[in-house]
Amino acid sequence: MIDLRSDTVTRPSAAMLQAMVAAPLGDDVMGDDPTVIRLQEAVAERAGKAAGLFFPSGTQSNLGALMAHCERGDEYLVGQLAHTYKYEGGGAAVLGSIQPQPVEHAADGSLPLEKLAAALKPAGDAHFARTRLLALENTFHGKLIPASYVQAATDWARQHGLATHLDGARVFNAAVASGKPLADMCQPFDSVSICFSKGLGAPVGSVLVGSAELIARAHRWRKMLGGGLRQAGVLAAACLYALEHNVDRLAEDHANARLLAEGLGGIAGVTVLSQDTNMVFVQVEPALCDGLTAALDAQNIKMRAVYGGPTRLVTHLDISADDVRRAVRAVADYCSTAPR
Ligand SMILES: *Cc1c(COP(=O)(O)O)cnc(C)c1O
Repeated sequence: MIDLRSDTVTRPSAAMLQAMVAAPLGDDVMGDDPTVIRLQEAVAERAGKAAGLFFPSGTQSNLGALMAHCERGDEYLVGQLAHTYKYEGGGAAVLGSIQPQPVEHAADGSLPLEKLAAALKPAGDAHFARTRLLALENTFHGKLIPASYVQAATDWARQHGLATHLDGARVFNAAVASGKPLADMCQPFDSVSICFSKGLGAPVGSVLVGSAELIARAHRWRKMLGGGLRQAGVLAAACLYALEHNVDRLAEDHANARLLAEGLGGIAGVTVLSQDTNMVFVQVEPALCDGLTAALDAQNIKMRAVYGGPTRLVTHLDISADDVRRAVRAVADYCSTAPR
């Protein structure tokens, strides 16, 4: 099976499962699971932050962070297409009583400073929610957000008394793509949420990093959100394995995405829109979409060609360069023979 729908589809490898079986365990709700403690410390150290907190998902980790930064009636500035705003069920508003203020992205994924400034509410006026936080995302739809922009935006936020959060679900992809240590990507932010269940290949798990005070507040919210897990070291062990074995190899995923974009770029009926880190976006001719999806499915290749919209293809640790070549051949075969 060649599954290009997402980098969340990876299965834990035999060695990762072995690490999970062998992990020493405790009760993390009582704070004494040694594997969870080791993971939290390792991620915090690597990110250059004082403390870390294990969460079962990136959605809960982002929400715990937003709730740790903002109180009821506060507001956060966030991208119109950002995961925390668009793809997390409206949790900040529903569970956090936090008003999201969405801001339109520029083409490179950044949120222009003049748009942020226009969205910032005047302080001390009871008409307005209190703007408290700027949340960015890196990578964003695979795009590496320029370091100079991140610095300028977080400087701007601090000048206006705002805290800063990074949805770093794929921040390791950003670090590998830019050739910088993880700590450099995290340094401008007060908190960063990092996923281990994407390209890093763990079955579940995210870690939120930040100051000890912030993490203590997030810990309380995690409990209320139902995220207190007992022998969570079983899961943390998979994340530790990923941290130790699967970070540098993200470069292979980026190279395979380039190979995929190059291959698809030569096929009539498919237009490559962009390729960044491990993601390729293409436009498939509408008349080909349904047939292509079905033809690939019959060959055990999963890719959902979207009628009229961009189709996303994602490389990950269960996709080899040979898999990419096979997928490109299958797309080319279908497109050259399909009626249209
Ligand atoms: C996957 C993802 C998350 C968190 O998702 P979960 O499925 O809850 O782990 C957050 N932000 C981005 C950008 C993501 O891709």
